Amino acid sequence: HKTIKQGGTFVVEPRRLSKASAELRARGFGEITIPHSTETAEKQASRCTDCGVPFCQNACPLQNNIPDWLRLSAENEPREAWRVASLTSTMPEICGRICPQDRLCEGACTLNVSGWDAVTIGSVEAWLGDQAFANGWVEPIRPKAERAETIGIVGAGPAGLAAADRLRSEGYQVVVYDRHDRAGGLLIYGIPGFKLEKHVVQRRVDRLIEGGVQFVLGCDVGKDVTLSELRDRHDVVLLAMGVYQPRILSAPGRGPDSTVEALQYLTHQNRRDLGDAEQAGWYEASGKRVVVIGGGDTAMDCVRTAIRQGAASVTCLYRRDRENMPGSAREVQNAEEEGVVFEWLGAPKALLSQGDRVTGVRAARMQLTEAAPGERRDIVPVPGADFDIPADIVIEALGFSPEPFAAHEPDLRLRDDGTIRVGAVSFATSLPGVFAAGDAVRGASLVVWAVREGQDAAAEIDRYLKTRTEEVAA
Ligand code: FAD
Ligand code: SF4
Repeated sequence: HKTIKQGGTFVVEPRRLSKASAELRARGFGEITIPHSTETAEKQASRCTDCGVPFCQNACPLQNNIPDWLRLSAENEPREAWRVASLTSTMPEICGRICPQDRLCEGACTLNVSGWDAVTIGSVEAWLGDQAFANGWVEPIRPKAERAETIGIVGAGPAGLAAADRLRSEGYQVVVYDRHDRAGGLLIYGIPGFKLEKHVVQRRVDRLIEGGVQFVLGCDVGKDVTLSELRDRHDVVLLAMGVYQPRILSAPGRGPDSTVEALQYLTHQNRRDLGDAEQAGWYEASGKRVVVIGGGDTAMDCVRTAIRQGAASVTCLYRRDRENMPGSAREVQNAEEEGVVFEWLGAPKALLSQGDRVTGVRAARMQLTEAAPGERRDIVPVPGADFDIPADIVIEALGFSPEPFAAHEPDLRLRDDGTIRVGAVSFATSLPGVFAAGDAVRGASLVVWAVREGQDAAAEIDRYLKTRTEEVAA
């Protein structure tokens, strides 16, 4: 162990998060991080050197006041620490679990930048949240006064839930519409249980319901109700419906049923974890050779799900190298520990099959070119170096674009890529009284950004409704 100076003395510290062994992890879908005890949480929090310039806070999309809640945690004041943590975030225990901290707060931690291991900020944040729920410190939503205005939110993902929390707390009548049968968006059906157990999401949703937020589930806006009906029904509509159109592989041999779509694959497993009865057609990889194409977080979730389902082999095929992959380095490490084989610099070229049955993927070996100054290195195929990977299941995890929004109104302005145009500060769309936030605006992004935008959009909606009321009153 390294020692660091803390309050004038040198202390020996545990440096890393404790994780279950890879062997144990492969047997189930529970979270892999071993939760802190009070003692380990305080020790970890006490590693913060209070460096004076909180780079961690700047690197957090929510600008969480990290040094303050670390200090309070280290001083055995977890309830106060929780209060501070919940000022800036409507779901600290969720972000603490699934933010790619290596690219955010912990990547910027002074200890990390100066060659030590970062304070594992996310783990302390998750611990604080769990303590708060266990000890009844999570405040119920109790608006000071009820307001008559109603807000319809399309999408019960983190952006919609964060906005619902803030708006209901202001006393507005909030109705959240979602086409799924459960609230949570990608928190419930996308992200697997080994990163985020479902009860952690459910207790947040329960708190909103207890606070008076209404959920209309199984309601596909655009089919079951139109946007214009929602605009008639509510004073304001917030669009927070994420991005769900999977990008598809363009390769010879790809037929309609030859590959599996990543989100469907993950949803089926999440439904099993939630106790839903097995349905015909749900994907399962037990005993099969699995190839996952892609290098982002979704691909990492698929390979690690396949390991847990007992796949005979799991290979991740990604066209660039490890340094240039979009997924979190931490997740790649977890996947490698669990037995996933990475074929870096391998671009899918064709799907191989016998009759209707897929038998493998043919890939081109790629190499990186020299980069022009300030540009990313390109990749080109190595001539004559194609290779085949045998497979029984091929999963496509190539990212998502916005779906054509069935409830689209012609005056709703979109960007060329289909995301919704909003005012940079106002979150207002081109339709009066309609706002938008989260992935539907940013494109596929992170939970912490969805929370930030949901909270900011709620503040703007509040301002919009109050100024409008004042204008009417005057
Ligand atoms: P979503 O979470 O997508 O929620 C949108 C909701 O709108 C959904 O519930 C959907 O059912 C509903 N909806 C859509 N259209 C309609 C309609 N027409 N009518 C009614 N309802 C509708 N981010 C991280 O920070 N860490 C991670 O580890 C991580 N892992 C990920 C793993 C996977 C597999 C995926 C796909 C994404 C991951 N992300 C991760 C990204 C993160 O989940 C998203 O950025 C975030 O959920 C976006 O939040 P949102 O509220 O904008 O949208
Ligand atoms: Fe770090 Fe994410 Fe928590 Fe911010 S919200 S402190 S980036 S884990």
